[in-house]
Amino acid sequence: MDSSVDVKNGVRERDEEAAESLDFIRSAVAEDNASGRFGGRVQTRFPPEPNGYLHIGHVKAIAIDFGVAEDFGGICNLRFDDTNPEKEEQEYVDGQIADMKWLGFEPANIYYASDYFDQLYEWAVELISQGKAYVDDLSAEEMREYRGTLTEPGRNSPYRDRSVEENLDLFARMKAGEFPDGSRVLRAKIDMSSGNLNLRDPAMYRIRHAEHQRTGNKWCIYPMYDWAHGQSDSIEGVTHSLCSLEYEDHRPLYDWYLEQLGVYHPRQIEFARLFITHTLLSKRVLIRLVNDGLVSGWDDPRMPTVVGMRRRGVPAAAIREFVDRAGVSKTNSTADIALLDFYIRQELNRTAPRVMGVLDPIKVVITNYPAGQVEWLEAINNPEDESAGTRQVPFSDELFIDRDDFQEVPHRKFFRLAPGQEVRLRYGYFITCTDVVKNESGEIVELHCTYDPETKGGYAPDGRRVKGTIHWLSAAHALDVEVRMYDRLFAAEDPGSYDDFSQALNPNSLEILPAAKVEPSLTSAEQGTVYQFERKGYFCVDSKDSRPGAPIFNQTIGLRDSWAKIQGKG
Ligand code: ATP
Ligand code: MG
Repeated sequence: MDSSVDVKNGVRERDEEAAESLDFIRSAVAEDNASGRFGGRVQTRFPPEPNGYLHIGHVKAIAIDFGVAEDFGGICNLRFDDTNPEKEEQEYVDGQIADMKWLGFEPANIYYASDYFDQLYEWAVELISQGKAYVDDLSAEEMREYRGTLTEPGRNSPYRDRSVEENLDLFARMKAGEFPDGSRVLRAKIDMSSGNLNLRDPAMYRIRHAEHQRTGNKWCIYPMYDWAHGQSDSIEGVTHSLCSLEYEDHRPLYDWYLEQLGVYHPRQIEFARLFITHTLLSKRVLIRLVNDGLVSGWDDPRMPTVVGMRRRGVPAAAIREFVDRAGVSKTNSTADIALLDFYIRQELNRTAPRVMGVLDPIKVVITNYPAGQVEWLEAINNPEDESAGTRQVPFSDELFIDRDDFQEVPHRKFFRLAPGQEVRLRYGYFITCTDVVKNESGEIVELHCTYDPETKGGYAPDGRRVKGTIHWLSAAHALDVEVRMYDRLFAAEDPGSYDDFSQALNPNSLEILPAAKVEPSLTSAEQGTVYQFERKGYFCVDSKDSRPGAPIFNQTIGLRDSWAKIQGKG
């Protein structure tokens, strides 16, 4: 407990420090506002490709895009960079919109790059007319060969000096569908010897006879990312186009296109990507986990996706705190996943109702309690939140406790239930174990105990103390539930360092407990609600597989605070 207080103070101090100095993006925006570069306007956008669900790395980008706009009284739009019809789906568009809403980010407008296909085509024709773009017939392999390397300049394509007329004609015929996929591309004519490979005559359009989720079969040529992105920003009036660091080398191209076209010119600024230990944040990898059946779907509770974390019970507020804390920086670094865990615990400790749940039940018979009698004992719903009130839990002569709360031959420091040892039942009585009942194979099947009727509520009038308190359930009232226990998806701290990420997986990341039991009040538990099972951790009612009256619980996280460990490391 002490350590969490220290953590809170530490975090608060850092908040104050952060408020004193603007991060480099906000400084740049403040400068632009001061110089009047964009007339004091601030407009950002979050531009995902709808080729998967959002992951926590995207949340960092979203938080920066929305945070910067908000801090300067501007707006942030959502724009789908939907220029790859073969990989994109309406399901992902809808999913990403829902994810943002759940996180609490409300885009001012929702736009689609595909709405600009006509304008982008016209602008491409304009560049061709200016002699700044050409149709190339080299194969993909030849193009790669002509491109050169970081240390060797590239060579000009033999098609580079086609006349404007021929290029206009070929480009129109590309659009008209006369050529097969991959047979030609439109390229910008820049500099095959540039030190920046992105400027070595980058492709602007490729031929793909593929149906697009929004434009249908209208197009069979699709713009490349670089050609679509800056121009889309320009059309929308974006002022600051914020993106992750890997786009830094694309900025000269972003600027080149806009300069050639002589249109409104936003400013691109790059920030460090979010990396997290034991986690891979790349849709390419995540989609493979899904397609190879290594997880149950994008919303598998072990996934670092927004849908996965949500299904696991991770509160949106914890995700947002975590990405805010990761901050805005110019150099990539890796955040410890234990820090995310810390914010999850902090939030759930505040908000989650407490209940008793027994994960691995063993029966306890209270031999001196009147058979058939039921008492309803008062239990506190949330000690962190008085307004959450209390509830009644049934007590009777047959109970369940968790198997690991009993030791037949107790360790010297084991203060829970053991033969002849007295323990407190949470909200209930003191009990003492008198007999251990075993089956033929020697397994413990039942414990016999006596209770002290004077200790109701957990205190002995004679001042006698017990060192241990355990949770329990009345056997006749307990509800049978399935509990799914999760561990990290990747055992390796840096799964990205493996050639084959499947080697980095944790083979024990899911354990199903089919015979767990919870308080009867949870019969009507709502999907998505997170409870603290006292002494056990946080558990969320699964929103996919639960059935009415038969909730399934996903372990969100255990109770143990590993923040101290992180600080020790750091
Ligand atoms: P992925 O490699 O996972 O597909 P991406 O960059 O291709 O990611 P996009 O849909 O193109 O995914 O990303 C939308 C925005 O999110 C981009 O501006 C990108 O900079 C940002 N983004 C993606 N991953 C991260 C991350 N790990 N940290 C910060 N920003 C990210
Ligand atoms: Mg991308």
